[in-house]
Amino acid sequence: MKFKYFIIIALLALTSCTNVKKEPTKVVAHRGFWNDLCTENTISSLYNANKIGCHAAEFDVRLTKDKQLVVVHDNVIQGHQINASTLSDIKKITFEDGESIPTLEEYLDQAKDMNINLILELKETSSFQNNTYAVQSIQKIINERELIDKVSFISFSTSTCKLFLKYFPTSKIYYLCSASDPDKIISPEMALSIGLAGIDYQDKILIDNPNLIKECHDLGLEVNVWTVNEEEYIQHFINEGVDFITTDHPDLVMELTKK
Ligand code: MG
Repeated sequence: MKFKYFIIIALLALTSCTNVKKEPTKVVAHRGFWNDLCTENTISSLYNANKIGCHAAEFDVRLTKDKQLVVVHDNVIQGHQINASTLSDIKKITFEDGESIPTLEEYLDQAKDMNINLILELKETSSFQNNTYAVQSIQKIINERELIDKVSFISFSTSTCKLFLKYFPTSKIYYLCSASDPDKIISPEMALSIGLAGIDYQDKILIDNPNLIKECHDLGLEVNVWTVNEEEYIQHFINEGVDFITTDHPDLVMELTKK
């Protein structure tokens, strides 16, 4: 009889575990929501992502020659090399839609009054010293605006991730990896030992390593996947229960996550 009760209790415990409601996949607008609307990484792309209710806007930060932080992905824009140009030179660049490259201060001044969260990617600078300078400047700019609760950080470099951990000990830091750099993939155990909140991997890595998502979740790590734009793959990663989908089509991903 006792054994019978034990079985019933064990079954109830198992049922309650499997019924734990996992949070739905969150939508991250890759470089803001710009597709067909405006230029990526601009104030308008941030505004658009916030307007449609994205969980977060991802954006890229680079250091200029005169050590200013600007929000831009490529190091060369209209012939100007960002890390070899001064801010005043960079400010002369105008995109087709009339917008310019925002400074990090300008970008965050706009974000301050929005509901959207922010995922800041620091692009590598020329030296560890400059990386440290950039992270210290980012800390100052974020703290001045009291935005720390809204921002998490990503980098393709574990040493930059460690810098973020040092200067933002209460924030979430995620390690980025591209499928073109398979040697740079780190295991969930390694991510945990560094102190990361999770991994932020290109879709192909997660498709080629189908156990990775569960392995991360089992260790309490989160998984962000980029850049997922096709409906078939978006649905695949929603079904797999990734925590974040980073996409150029946040409107489509939002529609599919609500189904
Ligand atoms: Mg980026």
